[in-house]
Amino acid sequence: MKSSEIRSKFLDFFQSKSHEIVPSAPMVIKDDPTLMFTNAGMNQFKEYFLGNSTPKSERIADTQKCLRVSGKHNDLEEVGMDTYHHTMFEMLGNWSFGNYFKKEAIGWAWELLTEVLGIDKDKLYVTIFEGDKAEGLERDQEAYDHWKQLIAEDRILNGSKHDNFWEMGDQGPCGPCSEIHVDIRSAEDRAKIPGADLVNQDHPQVVEIWNLVFMQFNRKADGSLEKLPARHVDTGMGFERLCMVLQDKQSNYDTDVFTPLIREIETVTKTSYGKDEKVDIAIRVIADHVRAVAFSIADGQLPSNTGAGYVIRRILRRAIRYGFTFLDKKEPFIFRLTDTLVKQMGTAFPELVSEKNLITNVIREEEQSFLRTLDQGLVLLENMITTAKGNEISGQKVFELYDTYGFPKDLTGLILRERGYSYNESEFDSELQKQKERSRAAGKVETGDWNVLADDSEEEFIGYDSLEANVKITRYRKV
Ligand code: ATP
Ligand code: MG
Ligand code: MG
Ligand code: MG
Repeated sequence: MKSSEIRSKFLDFFQSKSHEIVPSAPMVIKDDPTLMFTNAGMNQFKEYFLGNSTPKSERIADTQKCLRVSGKHNDLEEVGMDTYHHTMFEMLGNWSFGNYFKKEAIGWAWELLTEVLGIDKDKLYVTIFEGDKAEGLERDQEAYDHWKQLIAEDRILNGSKHDNFWEMGDQGPCGPCSEIHVDIRSAEDRAKIPGADLVNQDHPQVVEIWNLVFMQFNRKADGSLEKLPARHVDTGMGFERLCMVLQDKQSNYDTDVFTPLIREIETVTKTSYGKDEKVDIAIRVIADHVRAVAFSIADGQLPSNTGAGYVIRRILRRAIRYGFTFLDKKEPFIFRLTDTLVKQMGTAFPELVSEKNLITNVIREEEQSFLRTLDQGLVLLENMITTAKGNEISGQKVFELYDTYGFPKDLTGLILRERGYSYNESEFDSELQKQKERSRAAGKVETGDWNVLADDSEEEFIGYDSLEANVKITRYRKV
């Protein structure tokens, strides 16, 4: 089944259950000082849940463009390293605003996955909230009882407050959730270790696809919980992950959502996917990031030096660096991918078609200017090499290069190694640590799906820099 068909099947199914199908809200948020990018389908419905406005329909479904690169949901460092987290992805969702509740939400999710889409029941696991003594919250027996009508009881697993209790922020609507996980391992591997043991273990082949949130409480300012008069349902399913399952693939990147882009990257960079892990990571990063950047530009957010624009600029630069370092691309090339992307996604998201020229030109210019910066960094590096006393460059200098020119340390390390030099890594790390402490002291980080800033100072996101999965540096500075 093609991805476009999968998207339609989801929407048609919920339309048949009397849901109104609405368009995706923009991915870039302009009117909410607490959130830069849409990170979940429910964002655009926040005011309904808070009771500040009334929806035109009590049942809604859509596919929402999401971006998870900052705050509570920051998946950036996973992207490319694993096969199922993206920066930009589509979240399919259905909502009940004071209308249906657990029985229908669970029943329809099951009907869609197993009957309409034909997923093998033996590959599915579900989780329910196990309760939390400290909060005085009970296990979600109601969800359990609905699930056990549909699925064997040993496939219904308990989940902790961390995974199975959703909160909007420090205050507001919240409630237990129930997640659906799919085991995509071979029958042989499934026989070795039960899939139940791998749920919530971040296993690349036992992945969460759908989260059903049941909003039934309100968290008050004093931290206590009260029952909501009207109960709501908020669900989110990862579209690319669903495609992976239905197309019988082991990676989102092997679905037709990504393969046309990957083929184009192979052609443009004269590399091939699936032979060398480093090259593969770079190709995945580029295929992912070009989507995030293109969708953002289509929403009107160009790369810039502040706020959301800077986040987008850093994402694009990250892609450029991966191309520069691992695919040996010293010339702009990412802009060449927009044709393929627009062909692939333009029907579902017509804004890509209408903004195609802008997207292409902006990406090309950004690539040109960042490659020049990289060139300047190379000149400085050359100076460091010629003036070095021994074979080791000081970590502080490498840090300066990184901090001022956005020159990633592994790129520096690579170039130095080629010339028979190295740099003092612990000095670099200690400079980095100092800087992290400075930024921590100076800034705050988004922590919730909404986070009301305590004072009126603006935060400028000044980026994250690392090509390594194990270092996550998110820097904020007050301006
Ligand atoms: P995970 O535990 O895999 O990080 P999550 O629990 O953070 O996912 P939710 O906030 O529950 O995700 O979002 C609903 C659904 O959106 C998930 O079940 C998943 O299918 C999908 N999803 C979440 N994050 C990503 C991502 N970075 N890329 C692609 N799909 C995602
Ligand atoms: Mg997550
Ligand atoms: Mg999860
Ligand atoms: Mg989840």
